[in-house]
Amino acid sequence: MFCNQCEQAAKGTGCADFGICGKDEDVQSLQETLLYGLKGMAAYAHHARRLGQVDEAVDAFVEEALFATMTNVNFDVPTLIELVLECGKQNLRVMQMLDQAHVGRYGQPEVTEVATGTQARPGILITGHDLLDLEHLLAQVEGTDVMVYTHGEMLPGHMYPRLRSHPNLAGHFGGAWQLQKSQFEDFGGAILATTNCVLIPREAYRDRLFTTRVTAVPGATRLKADDFSAVVRRARELGALPERVGPKVPVGFHHSVILNAAPAILEAVGKGDVTRFFLIGGCDGAEPGRNYFSDYAKLAPESAFVLTLGCGKFRLMDHDYGTLLGLPRLLDMGQCNDAYGAIQVAAGLAQALNCGVNDLPLTIVLSWFEQKAVAVLLTLLHLGVRNIAVGPAAPAFLSPNVFKVLQDAYGLKLIGANAAEDMAAVLA
Ligand code: SF4
Ligand code: SF4
Repeated sequence: MFCNQCEQAAKGTGCADFGICGKDEDVQSLQETLLYGLKGMAAYAHHARRLGQVDEAVDAFVEEALFATMTNVNFDVPTLIELVLECGKQNLRVMQMLDQAHVGRYGQPEVTEVATGTQARPGILITGHDLLDLEHLLAQVEGTDVMVYTHGEMLPGHMYPRLRSHPNLAGHFGGAWQLQKSQFEDFGGAILATTNCVLIPREAYRDRLFTTRVTAVPGATRLKADDFSAVVRRARELGALPERVGPKVPVGFHHSVILNAAPAILEAVGKGDVTRFFLIGGCDGAEPGRNYFSDYAKLAPESAFVLTLGCGKFRLMDHDYGTLLGLPRLLDMGQCNDAYGAIQVAAGLAQALNCGVNDLPLTIVLSWFEQKAVAVLLTLLHLGVRNIAVGPAAPAFLSPNVFKVLQDAYGLKLIGANAAEDMAAVLA
């Protein structure tokens, strides 16, 4: 453990191993888990608030939970576990608000194929998670020859009819966040980064990178308001992009779309034509161990659907999974906050089959990288979802004792070293 939050910090630098106040590594671990869950939830809540959705109970919980992490307030493991699970509950509400805000403002999601590449016109690449920024940008290029392309977690923006129908939304360019340095350089036009996960830019594209509000990186231009005229101007200065035509990618398997197909899916489950659902998704990252997730998805039997979300999907999208019941076997549900949708699908299927979520033929493999994934994991634990596998590595902030508590209570486990062995174990 390490803590330096009060004056008693050992040697004036920080308490390690144990706190002068009496805090031990398990208390510190749970306080950090709570803080990181709150950070992820705060990011989602920020998006929801910008779209007009707030909940006083969520705000009150944030204050209470932060209070509990102050010096000499809480040294009690059971209480802290209670707060950690409450964070998951509040995050479920926040993800629900965000889902409702997106659907209410941008229309009922639909399945669509998104063009990739660039057109021979000036272009702006928009990355991050904030769909309101995408809406404002599209409004500000309307009637011009400047085209807008989504990057990373903006891809699901295309599933909403009121965004997709905009004539300046030209398609998608690039994949997950960790590849942005080469992809932004290659793009050639102006870039607007709206949230995490943005990286400190290379010099090659620093002067054409813009960020919004709290998102800021050295050398780029930070825009505090919704006026994107500087981005549009820069795109015009940079001129036409090369004409590049990539493959089309299917998006739009929002929970409402999947649940509409539920009667046919349930009938196929009854006949044994659909044997399992895998939810493989979350964050992506640069570590070589993340190949596990794509290897694992490829090993899923042809009678199984693979649901995915977050930027972890890009690793899975390189493979052709074919179709099942006329649907793609790989179903992209959206952004990481659309984990709410995955929960709705699981709850809907469980209700129709008259069983609990843990009784469904459902395997959850969560690729985590940052604090939004922590918030999502806490939500799944709050709902009592068991046997989730996380990877590629255990969260460093979970002490061995805290991990053991979660293992015993929820069957939480790490992914194995070998995707084929793990898949064989699931199918057995
Ligand atoms: S809160 Fe406790 S563990 Fe943290 S610095 Fe103060 S005395 Fe040390
Ligand atoms: S899924 Fe996680 S890692 Fe990926 S872009 Fe979203 S917040 Fe970042």
